[in-house]
Amino acid sequence: MYLPALQNTDPAIRDLIIAEEKREWDKMRLIPSENYASAAVMEATGSILTNKYSEGYAKKRYYEGQQFVDQVELLAIERAKEAFGMPHANVQPYSGSPANMAVYHAVLEHGDTIMGLALPHGGHLTHGWKVNFSGKTYNSVPYELDPETELLNYDKILEQAKEVKPKMIIAGYTAYPRTIDWQKFREICDEVGAYFHADTSHITGLILGGAHESPYPMADTGITTSHKTLRGPRGAMILCKEEHAEKIDKAIMPGLQGGPHNNTTAAIAVALKEASTPDFKAYAAQIVANAKALAGKLNSHGFRLVTGGTDNHLILFETQQSKGIGGREAAKALDKAGIVTNCNTVPFDPNPPFKPSGVRIGTPAVTSRGMKEAEMEKLGDWMARAIDNVENDAELSAIAAEVKELCKDFECPGINPKNW
Ligand SMILES: *Cc1c(COP(=O)(O)O)cnc(C)c1O
Repeated sequence: MYLPALQNTDPAIRDLIIAEEKREWDKMRLIPSENYASAAVMEATGSILTNKYSEGYAKKRYYEGQQFVDQVELLAIERAKEAFGMPHANVQPYSGSPANMAVYHAVLEHGDTIMGLALPHGGHLTHGWKVNFSGKTYNSVPYELDPETELLNYDKILEQAKEVKPKMIIAGYTAYPRTIDWQKFREICDEVGAYFHADTSHITGLILGGAHESPYPMADTGITTSHKTLRGPRGAMILCKEEHAEKIDKAIMPGLQGGPHNNTTAAIAVALKEASTPDFKAYAAQIVANAKALAGKLNSHGFRLVTGGTDNHLILFETQQSKGIGGREAAKALDKAGIVTNCNTVPFDPNPPFKPSGVRIGTPAVTSRGMKEAEMEKLGDWMARAIDNVENDAELSAIAAEVKELCKDFECPGINPKNW
């Protein structure tokens, strides 16, 4: 019996967990922010460390009994500092959004001007979008991509920064398929006297695996989630220069949070250890190779790729103009075909955000299963077939069966189908 205690206490939840495991095994998971955490990460996440309260920081806690939790957190911090080459790390943020909130809370005053990439161009909600706390608390003046190239235009960003004089510029995105020139951001920030905040949530695995340049240590502050390309538990870290260390720690606790999630902290330490291996380097390189192969295939099927291709783990492609099918319709058809994606706005999208023109995909999860270029070619063909048949449920089911057959041969880290 698998999950026997749950079977006894709450079979409804046990059944749903197993159903989700099967879904994650049987389908191609192309959502670029998702991944498969390893069995070791899952063990740490599910451990009794969840039982302990430890408000504060190692050796400075409010409750007794921290003999082992302190060691867990110190190990996670040491590994984070070493991995990113930053002098200070805080591993307590509950997730990426609170991590950004804590950084702003630490170094900005309410009403200060910030510049992040506009959400419809690939920025994150917490980078100053108007419905988010970051757009309400701070004076957010978003920058945009270049309308011709759909790329970051560093000259334009500098021009805008000179005009609006931001206290902080945020770089790091959720839907940008190209590499980021961090040095350029450093120079722009130096020229206008702004803090350089890097948010590497999506690409931390690529950075640690050597497949994307690192903004560390040149950024003043940075955050990353731990559950995307890094393949850890759901959580986040803040990295910063020494001068901000105390303010950052105080912003997390007591500024924003209470007790840290020690089970998550332990699993972050495990993920950082895994990310320091040669295997992880190969993994990061394969993510990019797979994305390039899949992008090439989609292009050959007549889909317009935003920026024309990809340098990282992510592809944004256009379905509305390319095929006369909306992004949402396309994503729904793909899901029926066993290929899980999300619809997404494209830069300068003529359609409203709830009816976007494109689909966002990424290769971190399928690469964790050991898939390579040959599987990406098949995937590209299936995707084109599905989008050509958005209303043909029989055809979509036929594709789903083929997808499932292929997926059988590729293990998902952290899931053991023998348990079912
Ligand atoms: C995912 C993401 C976040 C937010 O992380 P959550 O854990 O979902 O709160 C913040 N910034 C960027 C760039 C992200 O990709």
